Formats: sequence, structure tokens, C-alpha cells
Amino acid sequence: MNKKLLGALFSVLVSSSFAAHAAGVTDAMIENDAKTTNDVLSWGMGTEAQRFSPLTQINTKTVSKLTPAWSFSFGGEKQRGQESQPLIYNGKMFVTASYSRIYAIDMKTGTKLWKYEHRLPEGIMPCCDVVNRGAALYDNLVIFGTLDAQLVALNQDTGKIVWKEKVDDYAAGYSISAAPLIAKGLLLTGVSGGEFGVIGRVEARNPRTGQLIWMRPMIEGQMGYKYDKDGNATANGVTGTTNKTWPGDTWKTGGSATWLGGTYDNSTGLAYFGTGNPAPWNSWLRPGDNLYSSSTVALDLDSGQIKWSYQTTPHDGWDYDGVNEFVTFNMDGKRYGAKADRNGFFYVIDATNGKLENAFPFVKKITWASGIDLKTGRPIYNENGRPGDPTKGKEGEKGETVFAAPAFLGAKNQMPMAYSPQTKLFYVPANEWGMDIWNEPVTYKKGGAFLGAGFTIHPIFDDYIGALRAVNPKTGKIEWEVKNNAPLWGGVMTTAGGLVFYGTPEGYLKALDAKTGKELWKFQTGSGVVAPPVTWKDGDTQYVAVVSGWGGAVPLWGGEVAKKVNFLEQGGSVWVFKLSSK
Ligand code: CA
Ligand code: CA
Repeated sequence: MNKKLLGALFSVLVSSSFAAHAAGVTDAMIENDAKTTNDVLSWGMGTEAQRFSPLTQINTKTVSKLTPAWSFSFGGEKQRGQESQPLIYNGKMFVTASYSRIYAIDMKTGTKLWKYEHRLPEGIMPCCDVVNRGAALYDNLVIFGTLDAQLVALNQDTGKIVWKEKVDDYAAGYSISAAPLIAKGLLLTGVSGGEFGVIGRVEARNPRTGQLIWMRPMIEGQMGYKYDKDGNATANGVTGTTNKTWPGDTWKTGGSATWLGGTYDNSTGLAYFGTGNPAPWNSWLRPGDNLYSSSTVALDLDSGQIKWSYQTTPHDGWDYDGVNEFVTFNMDGKRYGAKADRNGFFYVIDATNGKLENAFPFVKKITWASGIDLKTGRPIYNENGRPGDPTKGKEGEKGETVFAAPAFLGAKNQMPMAYSPQTKLFYVPANEWGMDIWNEPVTYKKGGAFLGAGFTIHPIFDDYIGALRAVNPKTGKIEWEVKNNAPLWGGVMTTAGGLVFYGTPEGYLKALDAKTGKELWKFQTGSGVVAPPVTWKDGDTQYVAVVSGWGGAVPLWGGEVAKKVNFLEQGGSVWVFKLSSK
């Protein structure tokens, strides 16, 4: 072969490999994310959000040799809660931090490649700390939502802004804290702000340009829209039937915020979003089921229509946001989804049609309902479980106070659970707490807290609040549990190495035996862990990463529990651990 031909061939090879590189993250790669072990492309380690890795190099026998590779500080004067899940692609880690910051870090060395610090206005109104839970990758972009309710897409190599879109008005209480979801070539995002009477919704955009494609509101009575290439909106049908489950004008400020984002199952072709509390918290002001608040909503991505919904807390009166992630899995040859709800019940639901298969408690104390009727799918309410009507109160304008469990921070909150197809168990970070709660009159005012309720959270047991529980979805049995003094607020990961990883507010990242719950390894990260770990492999080395930085809703809203854990220190860093096969 002559030199010229060789040169031509070489340049073809280089340009084709360059083209493959430039093509970046594709839909097929995202669909396969759970199976590919050299990258982490989505929140949930796969859009189904099982948080299960097929990797086995770090296992029950070798995990004791897991050692730190590097740690990276988010820096800055402002720390607060760090709830972010890192993404791994093309030799880089992409990790978001408090105050709408994002970093690209060299995956092997921990060297900072670039940082983007979103300029936040004075008046942002996040309810529950200045957190962010992660980004999404598409093509050569990394995309995340900000506390002033914008979406920002950055070039993965340079950190330069490629597009930026305003989702809504932060002064009306809108913000974004969840990681975006990519499914079927769409960027799917929700909004936070249920405590301010926002309109919860799911939006679909072109991930390359940020251009809106459709918007589906999560409140019955609100109009959905489709958008053409020039951004012109056309009506795409009202959600539900106006005034069917919301009286008068209450549906106009009904909350139902989609603040934890969604999951997607390629076998059903549906995206699943959880919705938050109906607004205001005072349920006497909005008689009815208040659809589609405190629900799981399955969306058809082509039409932007609701395929099915399942409401975990109809006519919620306790701030039992139904946002918890809907994790799809196989059981008895069928595709189900599981959800550990804030209201204390664990639900197993047919992922194709929303039919309830099983529901059982995963915490010890539940006061608002005695169970879930498996025939009707509805809760069996305890008559005296709801805080009293303020218009009938004897204490001035304050309704009767009740003790309710779980507390509004939930039997489980934002911290995602994991599912192992090996053990067929869900690993659920649960909390045992209750609250005194009462209702008060309230009227909607733009940008004002829209609660009509007061509360104080209390621990239930002396020795623990948090408990990592191995839940059998078929039997409802808790196979094992590991108690934790502080409330658990980080997520969970499980691996084919027979391990369960999770973090604690006391600062530890721990590895347990997935079958027994026996602790096999732990590492002190220097601040509380309130974020989910991830794992991946590069060459002969398996890595584990977790973000550390105490904060989130507990120190702000935890009442007696917040006092109990006020010794915990803030931080802001990401830790990476490694185990080589050599
Ligand atoms: Ca992957
Ligand atoms: Ca809420």
C-alpha cells in the first residue's frame, strides 16, 4: 500500500471515529444505559431507575478493598444540601451542586475541566433548600434545571451555553430541582413549587434546541398544548374534566408539582411522573379527589396525553406528595412499577395500565389510613386522621390539631430506592416520624406560601429515625432492615456483586450484603450524604462515586428532628472510590 493511500485511509479512520465521537449520546445509548457498565447516562442509572449495576468486580468478598481515588470540592462560600447524582461519559463526570452549579471533572484524575455557575436572581423561592438532583446527557450536551426555573444546555467539552430556556416565573414560586429525563428523543422536565400554588406539569422539548413540543398540566381543568416549529401553541385537550374533582376556581392554583422528575420504560413506551400535594395543604378548601395531585401519571410521549394515572393519596391533607419515583421491573412475567410513597405505603402497579396489584406499609406507624383496598385501589381513611376544619375550630380560626404519621417529610422523600433483579428486593430508604398538624385559613397570593397549615415534626422512636429496608414486592415482607439514628436522605444503589450502597447524614457511604443487610464496608465522607451513589467500570477498574454535603429539607422543616441532628456539618464535594482487578 502506498503512503498516499495509507494517509487517505488513516484520515478516513480518524474522521469516522471523530464523527462517532461527535455524535455523542444517542437515544439508543440512553435506552441501554442500565446494561452498559462503562457509563452512567441517566438519573436512575437507566431510565427505569432501578439503580442496579451488572458489575461484579466490587462484590461481597472484595468490597473491603475499596479505596478512595479522589475527592473534588464544589468550593464557594455557599454550601447547603447536595442531592445530586453524577453522570459518567467519555472520560468525564458531570455533577451538579447546590445553587444551580454544574462541574465537568476528569473521571480518572479528579481534575476540574470546567464549571458553570448559573446566575440566580435574589428572589428565588425553593421550598426545600437550594438543591439540584442531577443533569441529563444528549448528543454533546449536558442539560440541567435551575432554581429560577430555567433549563440550561451546555457543551460537554467546553461548558459553554448552547441553549437556555425559561420554563416559568420564579417570582410565582416556580423552580427546578430534578434531573431532566430523556426518552424517545424528548427532553422531559417537571417543575417544583407545590407550596406556592404553581401549576404542576410535564414539558417535552427538543433536547438539541430546547424548543417546546408539548406541555401536559397535572391539574384537572388545565389546558394542555402542542407547539409548532415557530413556538406557536395550539390547544391539545384539557386535562380531565374541569370542576370534576376540584370545586370553583381551586384548580387554577392547585399545585401538583412534578418536582422529582420522571422515569421511562422502553417496554411500555410510557414515561411516569409523580405529582406533589394539591395546594393549599388545608384540604377543607378543596373538597374532592383533586386529580392528578399526589399521583403517578403515565404519559404517552407521542401525543402528550395521560395514558393512565394512579392516585396514592386522593384529597391529600398531609402534604403526602406522590412524587416518588416509579421504578419498573419484571415480576411473574409481567411488567410492573413500584413506588414507595411519602404516605407510608409501598405500591406495586401494572406498568401498562395502572391497575393496582399490591399495596402494603413499609413504615411502622401510619395514622391517616388503615390500609389500601386492593379492589378499588383507594385508601381506607381513618376518620380522625385529618387535621380539623378551621371554620369549625374552637381555637379561634385554627382547626383541631391531630398527630399524623408519617410526617409530611414522608416515609420516603426524594432519596431514590433501588431494585435488584438478583435478590428481587427493593432497597428503600425509609423514615419513621410523625407530626402535629393543624389547618388555618389561607388565600392565594402570587409568590406567597400557600399552605393553610402549621406543623411540628417529631421522632417516633428514641433510637432511630431512618431505616434502610429490603422490601419484597410480592409478599410485602421487610426481609431485613438497618436502622439509622438520623433520617435517611440519600439514595440507594445495588449491584450484581451482591451489594447495596447508601449514604447517611452522619457522613458515611456504606456497603451492605444485599441478601442479609450485613455491613461490609464504610467510609466517612466528611459531611452528610443526601445523594445517591453510582458505579461504572473503566479498563480494569470499577469505580463508585457519591456526592457529600448535608442539607435538604430536614434541617429546614424537621422541627424536633432538625434539633436532634443540628450538630451535622455542611459540605460540598464528590468522592470517588476504586477497586482494580490487578
Ligand atoms: Ca450505562
Ligand atoms: Ca409538598
